[in-house]
Amino acid sequence: MGLLDTLLGKESGPKGRKEKCPSCGADVTLDMERCPKCGVHIKSMFRKKCPKCNELNDIDAERCEKCKYDFAAELARAKKTVYVCPICGYRADYYMLRCPSCNTRFV
Ligand SMILES: [Zn+2]
Ligand SMILES: [Zn+2]
Ligand SMILES: [Zn+2]
Repeated sequence: MGLLDTLLGKESGPKGRKEKCPSCGADVTLDMERCPKCGVHIKSMFRKKCPKCNELNDIDAERCEKCKYDFAAELARAKKTVYVCPICGYRADYYMLRCPSCNTRFV
């Protein structure tokens, strides 16, 4: 193994994401049905904005209701292996021999 940190599976999808309840500020995750504190319906409070047409969709929607933009494909792309330079934080989706940002050599 080189110096590079590999972010594999560390980035959780929208469902496990920690958020604050917009109503009472309690810590909630997006896979919760309701806020354990104030009982607000979480899914209806958090919406996913379509990057293409700006339509607000359900947080776990697979496609944009309006333009059919494929969120799942976007998620699959985001789950690709990401290599992060431990020196400067530069991210690349290929194994870097040398960081193009800070020039640190990894091999
Ligand atoms: Zn709440
Ligand atoms: Zn859309
Ligand atoms: Zn770097």
